This record gives sequence, structure tokens and C-alpha cells, in this order.
Amino acid sequence: MTVSIWQQAHRRRELAYDVVVVGGGIVGCSTAYWLSREHPSLQVALLEAGALGAGASGRNAGFVLQGTHTDYHSDTRRYGTRTARRLWAFTRANRDLLVSELRGTAFGWHSDGSVTAAGSDEENERLRASVSALRSAGAPVIHLDASETNDRLQASGFHGGLLVTIGATVDPLRLVHHIAERSDADVYAQHPVRRVLWREQAVHLVAPTRRFRADRVVLAVGPSLPTLIPATSAYVRPVRAQMLATAPAETPRVPVPVYSHNGGFYVRQLQDGRLLAGGGRHPHREAEATDTDSTTPAVQATIERYLHTYFPWTPPLEIAQRWSGTMGFSPDGRPVVGRVPGHPEGVFATGFTGHGMGYGFRMGRLLATLVADDERPKSFDLFAASRFEAPEAAAPHDASQTRSE
Ligand SMILES: Cc1cc2nc3c(=O)[nH]c(=O)nc-3n(C[C@H](O)[C@H](O)[C@H](O)COP(=O)(O)OP(=O)(O)OC[C@H]3O[C@@H](n4cnc5c(N)ncnc54)[C@H](O)[C@@H]3O)c2cc1C
Repeated sequence: MTVSIWQQAHRRRELAYDVVVVGGGIVGCSTAYWLSREHPSLQVALLEAGALGAGASGRNAGFVLQGTHTDYHSDTRRYGTRTARRLWAFTRANRDLLVSELRGTAFGWHSDGSVTAAGSDEENERLRASVSALRSAGAPVIHLDASETNDRLQASGFHGGLLVTIGATVDPLRLVHHIAERSDADVYAQHPVRRVLWREQAVHLVAPTRRFRADRVVLAVGPSLPTLIPATSAYVRPVRAQMLATAPAETPRVPVPVYSHNGGFYVRQLQDGRLLAGGGRHPHREAEATDTDSTTPAVQATIERYLHTYFPWTPPLEIAQRWSGTMGFSPDGRPVVGRVPGHPEGVFATGFTGHGMGYGFRMGRLLATLVADDERPKSFDLFAASRFEAPEAAAPHDASQTRSE
């Protein structure tokens, strides 16, 4: 293909912005939104390699859950009571901000609760043990015994469950678009950033057909972060998630989203009767440690078996669609946020560990504060990448100021 002088000049011209956000998923779009909302004088660009929501944000189950990918009891043991409580509060704030800031009808918002269902007695005991601590943290939860759980979900075989009355679902792709539209950012889809160059107090971003210059940059590229910043490779690894959708069932039977077997499976029923089911990765961990976008008969069979076992009315439903997406998993299950090593004008967030819809909108606010101000936002320490560094290396970070967003 030939190139005209106009096209050539267009390609050479560098577009200048105050802040460039790279990555058009829930985290990048939310950051662009909050930059517009709280720092309206800044010129912001949002660069996305494909279409908005091309990654996990446009391929997920649309559960907006509170807490982490696991149960609260396990979180308190793993992270300590205070951190578990703050993580819960952060994800609660994420849910509440989606309601107060955005128009839910634009992205299929439903908040009739969610059920974390136990696949074993041991899991049920952990859910039961979470109740009093969650309630004292202000979380509206009710423990259900096995028969209450199975009756409520028209299911069979669950050992108990935890109903979280504020659990919600969305159409995640419409949410991503809605957030991007509500920001004032200039959106450049089909602009994969190939290189990030740090020069003369500015960041230069090189995409195949355009170059950008920014004072600051936010990298919200999910599991692709190490390809742009190799020094972050310890913070995130790609993990594939697979899902399927059935043909519509005649009656609505699963009234709320179900997350079960320690997050190993999840099911929801859409308004039109279709069932979405996903997970089933745990027996196939090695094969699923990949960023290849394809489904496999093994994982799909595991999901189908689960669906047919726990929801015994589903075998007649045809499977209408199967798909996959790549998630970024962090070493300890918590998102990882930080400044690019050696380049404080660059900020990144990755490693949402299968739970980014539960964090993303609130995380965008945190990132907007982090990149626009030189101070640390209030919840930054929950996610700071410095937790993986030697204590001496973390010291300069800890000395910086903290501010409330
Ligand atoms: C099948 C599946 C089901 C899931 N279910 C749920 C759920 O129900 N609830 C939940 O909370 N979470 C769920 N998750 C996880 C959730 O989708 C992710 O945690 C979340 O979407 C991460 O958002 P993100 O913005 O960090 O990343 P992404 O959505 O991956 O966005 C990153 C974007 O950056 C772009 N990009 C990458 N490299 C470049 C580059 N060099 N230049 C420009 N752009 C670039 C990508 O194209 C992508 O659009 C699920 C994930 C999958 C795959």
C-alpha cells in the first residue's frame, strides 16, 4: 500500500496530552472518567489496542462482587483483619460509585444480591465463619443452609451459601463504553502502543500509525503490562478463563449470580433466560496459564458437567456460545498498583485476579489521583507494588504523603 504526503505528515505528528491512559478495559476507561471528573483542566487521551473492552473487561461474566476472589474468612487469615476489612470497603465503594455516578440502565445494572455457594462442608464452614466479621464491617450478609441455598437457586448439591444482599451484575461491555463516553478523553481505538519512551520529562508512546507525547501516563493494559514494562513481570501472569452461554431457558430460575467452589465456578441467568457459566479451570491449571484466546474441550466439559450437576434442569439446554478471555493474576491475589520503576510519571495497575469488575471503577479514581497529584491516595497501600520488594527498596514510597481522595 502506498502512503500519501498527507498520511505521512499525519503519522509523523506527535499528539500532545497532559495524561495518556493506555488500555480500554474497565480500569483504563474508569481512570479516564475520573481524570475528567476530578481534574477537568487536563487533556486526556485513552489508547486501546483493539476496540474498547477487547480484553477481559468485555468478555467476563459481569459479576460486581464485594471482597476478593475468595471468602472473607480466608482473606482475614491471609491478609489480616484490617486489610481484609479495607479490601471489602474498597469493593463496596466500587459498587456504590457505579450506582451514584452512572446511569445503570445504560449497562444492565441489577442488584438483587449474589450468592457465594459452598461446594463442600469445609467451604460452607468458612462462609459461616465469615458472617459475624463481615457484619461488623458493615456488610449485609446472610448465611443460608444447604436446603435454603439449593431452594433459592433451584440447584442441587450445594452445602450452604452466603447471600450478599448488595451483589450486582452488569453487561460489562456496555459498562466500559458508558464510562468511556462519560469521560472527556479523546479515545483512540485500534492504537496498540508498541513502545514507551521516557525522554525530556515527557513520555512518548509509539503506536503503528501515530505517536503521542504526555506529561504522565497510566498503563492499564491488564496482563500485557510486562510487554511494555519488563520490570513489572513479577507482578502479573496471564491466566485464561473460559465461559459458555446456553440457549434461553423458558423460565427464570437462577435469581441471583452464583459464585461457588472457592470462585472456581460461576453462573448467572440473563433476563432472556440464557444461562452463563464459567470457571472450571482448577483441574486444568497448567493448560490455562496462557494468553491464547481459544476454548478447550477439557475446560468446557468441566463447566458443562458442573452446570448439569448443580442445576439438574439444565441438560436439555443447548450450548449456544463458548468463549475465553485473559485475566491478569497477581502473586498474592490482590491488584498491583505502582509507579513505573525509574519513571514516576508513569503509573500502572494490573493483577485484578479474576475480580476486576469488583474493583475497576473505584480503582480508576485511585489511579486518577495518583497520576494527577504527587501524593499517595488513601487506599494506595492496599495495592502498592512495593509489598513485593525488599523493605529497603520500599522505604522511599512509604515516606511520601498520603491524601484522602
Ligand atoms: C471469562 C472471564 C470471566 C470473568 N468474570 C468476571 C466477573 O464476573 N467479575 C469480575 O469482577 N471479574 C471477572 N473477570 C475478570 C475481569 O474481567 C478482569 O479482572 C478485568 O476486566 C480487568 O480489567 P483491566 O482493565 O485491568 O484489563 P483488560 O480488560 O484486559 O483491559 C486491558 C486493555 O488493554 C488493552 N491493551 C493491552 N496492551 C495494549 C497496548 N500495548 N496498547 C494499547 N492497549 C493495550 C487490551 O486490548 C485491553 O482492552 C473475568 C474475566 C474473564 C476473562
